[in-house]
Amino acid sequence: MPLQLFNTLSGKVEEFHPLEDDLVRMYACGPTVYDYGHIGNFRTFIVVDTLRRFLKQSGYKLKHVMNITDVDDKIIRNAAALGVSVQDYTKKYKQAFLEDADALNIQHPEFLVNATDHIQEMAHFIAGLVEKGYAYRTDDGSYYFRIAKFPEYGKLSKKDFAGMNDGARVDVDEYDKDNARDFALWKAPKPGEAQWETEIGPGRPGWHIECSQMSMKYLGESFDIHAGGEDLIFPHHENEIAQSEALTGKPFVHVWVHARFLLVEGEKMAKSAGNFFTVRDLILMGHKPSSIRFLLMSVPYRKQLNFTFDGLTQAANSVERLRNFKLRLQTSQFADGGNVIIAEIAERTSAEMRAGLDDDLNTARALGAVFDMVRDVNAAADAGEVRKANVPQLLRVLEEFEEIFAVLKDDDAAKVRATVEWAKTEGLENKISPQTAELAKAAALSDADVEQLVAEHSQARKTRDFARSDAIRAQLAENGIILENTKDGVRWRRK
Ligand code: AMP
Ligand code: ZN
Repeated sequence: MPLQLFNTLSGKVEEFHPLEDDLVRMYACGPTVYDYGHIGNFRTFIVVDTLRRFLKQSGYKLKHVMNITDVDDKIIRNAAALGVSVQDYTKKYKQAFLEDADALNIQHPEFLVNATDHIQEMAHFIAGLVEKGYAYRTDDGSYYFRIAKFPEYGKLSKKDFAGMNDGARVDVDEYDKDNARDFALWKAPKPGEAQWETEIGPGRPGWHIECSQMSMKYLGESFDIHAGGEDLIFPHHENEIAQSEALTGKPFVHVWVHARFLLVEGEKMAKSAGNFFTVRDLILMGHKPSSIRFLLMSVPYRKQLNFTFDGLTQAANSVERLRNFKLRLQTSQFADGGNVIIAEIAERTSAEMRAGLDDDLNTARALGAVFDMVRDVNAAADAGEVRKANVPQLLRVLEEFEEIFAVLKDDDAAKVRATVEWAKTEGLENKISPQTAELAKAAALSDADVEQLVAEHSQARKTRDFARSDAIRAQLAENGIILENTKDGVRWRRK
């Protein structure tokens, strides 16, 4: 069964096929780098990452573009307040975005592009719209898109704009959700604002033109998938369609994918409500990046994800359960031979995981399949029914799982440590919780260091040098490493 995706444009779940052979061309709206990204932003970026990873696992080649919005009203305002250039201001937050994406194991797109590197091409795009009569210049040197010239306006957001006021204008990038207005393509220079000299005069681009120009530059006039959070449907994506289709006369995007907005403890996230969290906030409170990723992935993208701290604790337990299961497979001694029932469980789980993701990226269904496998195989292992030949079969299923979910590899400690270092350089020591400090410690020893100490520990026990073995155990514990005695010998894990 091929991938089924809900297309906001058609309002239906559709079978996905790329426009060109096995190449998928995909654009996802990226961050506006005026601050650290919050968990709502990363919910959407993780949805895009899930789609990206699953397309690759399904055998497609991928050309994925993400923009960085590094000039907009908020950026200009904040940079001016600090008396720094737009470039200096955004540099820090671009870097922070990449670090947070890495912490959450979000893969980099093939093209990560800055708006400010494409200003001349955006101006050229607008010149093309003027030539075709879709854009007009106002006295101050700004340019607007004439919505009345594009009768299909509203087709994505399913809004009926008949009877709208021709020529009514708005120059902010986000506007009243039920009102169509001619929107700004280009903003005339204002004193103290960043501006560029271009073929259509001085000024700076509006937000919407950015995504039209950069997506078509890298992906062509018509491409497969365009994704973002549901708040972008109107006006941002509606405007992108208008600009792009007006210029080319061709359908802009085949499938529009929108992630539902995340709530925090049942409420809309807002700084004023005190329920606003960045990825860094959560790490400094003592939560692992893998727990955050797991929680943000566990709810299918069209369902409302209600982020709660109970949910985060449950996510941590789920990741722990999966990691322990993998460790058990890797470190236990199983009897020779293979058990066909276990082999069947592995095969069924792999198929059901894929079927779940094919089903409009139903991550909950895929997770259900994996946890069923963990429960059944753990029970079989307790009863001595798992055989040596089953181990690679089961590990292969976990590998397929990891290609999408990316939570099994245990590098949390190193990531937490990096966040702690950052907090120190920002003077935020008082925000580092004791749990975070404890977790960061576990990164002080590399895997090789630990292996070495574990071997010495076993040797000391063999020679009955208990003073030495106890000292090593204490040293490991001090660094967040737990030694466990199992019937198959000693194994270790990070806290
Ligand atoms: P921004 O940095 O504001 O341009 O947003 C970057 C991405 O995050 C966009 O795709 C938004 O739709 C998305 N986004 C913002 N807030 C939330 C939220 N609460 N839940 C899910 N996605 C969000
Ligand atoms: Zn965009």
